[in-house]
Amino acid sequence: MTRLLSCFAFSLLLLSNTACEHQTDDDTKVHHHSIFSFGTIIDVSIAGVDEATAEQAFEQLEADFRYMHVTWHPWQRSALSRNNQLFATSEWFSDAPSVRPLLVKAKQLAVSSEHLFNPAIGKLIRLWGLKDGEHETGLPPADEDIRKLLQANPRMDDIEMSGIRIRSNNPGVFVDLGGFAKGYGINRAIETLEIQGIENAIINAGGDLKAIGQRGQRPWRIGINHPRKAEQVLAYIEVAGRQSVFTSGDYERYFEYEGRRYHHIIDPRSGYPGTGTQAVTVMHEDAALADAAATALFVAGPEDWYRIAQSMGIVHVLLVDSDGNIHMSPEMEKHVHLTSKPAKIVISKPLS
Ligand code: ADP
Ligand code: MG
Repeated sequence: MTRLLSCFAFSLLLLSNTACEHQTDDDTKVHHHSIFSFGTIIDVSIAGVDEATAEQAFEQLEADFRYMHVTWHPWQRSALSRNNQLFATSEWFSDAPSVRPLLVKAKQLAVSSEHLFNPAIGKLIRLWGLKDGEHETGLPPADEDIRKLLQANPRMDDIEMSGIRIRSNNPGVFVDLGGFAKGYGINRAIETLEIQGIENAIINAGGDLKAIGQRGQRPWRIGINHPRKAEQVLAYIEVAGRQSVFTSGDYERYFEYEGRRYHHIIDPRSGYPGTGTQAVTVMHEDAALADAAATALFVAGPEDWYRIAQSMGIVHVLLVDSDGNIHMSPEMEKHVHLTSKPAKIVISKPLS
């Protein structure tokens, strides 16, 4: 454990291009490598292969993550930002193949989440300035500016596709894939590892992760951050086989103004950060779906998360509401070990 921690601290210092290895209790060698992408440190752990195989895989992932991050940026020069410029014209154009599959999937996820997952609200997201910290002012935007962008009612449904051509019939559409690009990218990265014959691995992007296989003789054990106690773990989840665990929280990127917390998950109905929830954790094999669902269920909140989970095909959910109470599906409860007892635990009806 100490070796793992020091390895992690070392990775944090160097941010990228770091690799190290340690033995698990049952003598399985685990190779580690850290990559800085999607605004976070992505820690890759691979077990059950020799060092040369692991090194080769790390190199490939490093290049892939760099490419994905650049290609899917909504407003910096990228394939997606070109789409966004052309969506504003309402004209048909040919989009890049590196973006199309994400748009197709994002359209489906928007519909199944009743548009609570709505990547078409990129202008609102940019207005709030919490994305890269780039436009952060520490002040909420003017109500009038929010209202104007809401009035355009941008939806993924406004994007039409015909063969290799695409357009938006609503110039207010500006796509920001930040709610699920990390999950989508992690799916692809896991596929890359599997193609290279790697069967046991975990890709962990700041607590959002996908695992395949296991760590030696044991399942991977994952800590879920406490939304109000920095550096503390709220719960552990044991993950065996192919599973992704994604969390959306109001503690990840936020500022406080006049006693209110303004965070980076926007309720597309109000144009303001979602209220009623501190954090949502979703487990599903598909990392892109888990990522989008965590964002959507955060917006849905304690009253509506169950209905949205059902329509998105999600079974494993843990939601911490704004009072610190825990809401869980019974399926999720089986995997979760809480580190302390919350005021209230509400177990929903089964989702499967
Ligand atoms: P993180 O990526 O920080 O783990 P999320 O997966 O919840 O957290 O994604 C938050 C990001 O998703 C925001 O920074 C923004 O780019 C985008 N986003 C914010 N609100 C929504 C929404 N309602 N639907 C889709 N994407 C959103
Ligand atoms: Mg998400």
